[in-house]
Amino acid sequence: MNKIYFDHSATTPVLPAAAEAMVTFLTDNYGNPSSVYETGRAAKVALQDARESIAALLGADDPKEIIFTAGGSEADNLAIKGVADAKRKRGNHIVTSTIEHPAVMEPLKYLEKNGFQVTYVPVDSKGMVDPADVAAALTDETILVSIMLANNVVGTIQPVKEIAALLGGKGIAFHSDAVQAVGNLAIDVNELGVDMLSISGHKFHGPKGVGALYVRKGTRINPIIHGGGQERNKRSGTENVSGIVGLARALEVVEEEREEKTKRLAALRERLVDGVLSSIDEVQYLGDPVRRLPGSACFSFKFIEGESLILNLDMMGVAASSGSACSSHSLEPSHVILAMGYSAVDAHGSLRITMGRSSTEAEVDELLRILPGIVTRLRQMSPFHAGETAEMFMTEHPEDGPDHHHAHDEI
Ligand SMILES: *Cc1c(COP(=O)(O)O)cnc(C)c1O
Repeated sequence: MNKIYFDHSATTPVLPAAAEAMVTFLTDNYGNPSSVYETGRAAKVALQDARESIAALLGADDPKEIIFTAGGSEADNLAIKGVADAKRKRGNHIVTSTIEHPAVMEPLKYLEKNGFQVTYVPVDSKGMVDPADVAAALTDETILVSIMLANNVVGTIQPVKEIAALLGGKGIAFHSDAVQAVGNLAIDVNELGVDMLSISGHKFHGPKGVGALYVRKGTRINPIIHGGGQERNKRSGTENVSGIVGLARALEVVEEEREEKTKRLAALRERLVDGVLSSIDEVQYLGDPVRRLPGSACFSFKFIEGESLILNLDMMGVAASSGSACSSHSLEPSHVILAMGYSAVDAHGSLRITMGRSSTEAEVDELLRILPGIVTRLRQMSPFHAGETAEMFMTEHPEDGPDHHHAHDEI
């Protein structure tokens, strides 16, 4: 059996069409878009084409509303710090949720150390934000709300449109991290009602290190990177022309394939979930069963550590991840799964399977063939299986406290 890649929420392979489109801007058309001579002009035209294409695919009114960045994290940072800086005289309060990606959480923590107040609205057991909680959190000081469109750990799709409707006319900027949603959901910034929206190339078969922030005309935002004034002064630095070309090409392809792909992936996911729940006991299926990313399934297995599960799957040629921070030096349970009300033990036993455009039924069946055996073997080895309690697990691992959260390792 070939290697099976079930970690599409972590990253995706670059589409051949995107890679092909990029090459000429690394070699022949290497010019700087700010230069006036021929090769610079070619780069400038490519940049403009990419901007127009991405704006159209996101439903933006104007290509000028697209700011290219070096990925999803920078887009999130620009949205949050950029608005905070521009509006700090108007107010110092920001509202977000407890399940955001670290690229949103960490800039907010930074702002908290610098005079801003942040309200973290809770989620329910399925990982869903209640728009009423967002409305209740607003104060006269609120300048920004940031709620992700789809969660990267459990896949739950948030009621972004409903939240936007509650914010209408209040002069509060509304940002959504849509990094996981691109290629999986129809995204139209006007339909959603967002003022800012982050995307990242490598999560939808584009290159790594390139992304974009949509910024609605009239939204006040200051740059976080200063220099030569590129991107209409909102993001200085010579543009990553080849990356941006790859970003646009990848978005064009995944949008074209989206409806067919998501239907196929939802069916594969149901096959996987049914298979896991019927062949393994003491397992919970996490997240909203319906309002979720089509190819994403997250489980929690009792008496098992997700890390061991990942390593055992890896030995069998299957790449997947745990809901915990995906790093070898951190066993910190996922803040997302904890926020949904699960225990640290449940969070530790999590497995995230994220399928994508290359995933097949044969791969799902192969996972279903090997997973029960791995789970049984790990449980037999587990000191926690035969009657020991969750509390014991916790006291055995006192170092796994919230202070040790290596949030930046989450992908
Ligand atoms: C991956 C991811 C990011 C970060 O994007 P990068 O391009 O890797 O910096 C931000 N938000 C979410 C939801 C993600 O899944």
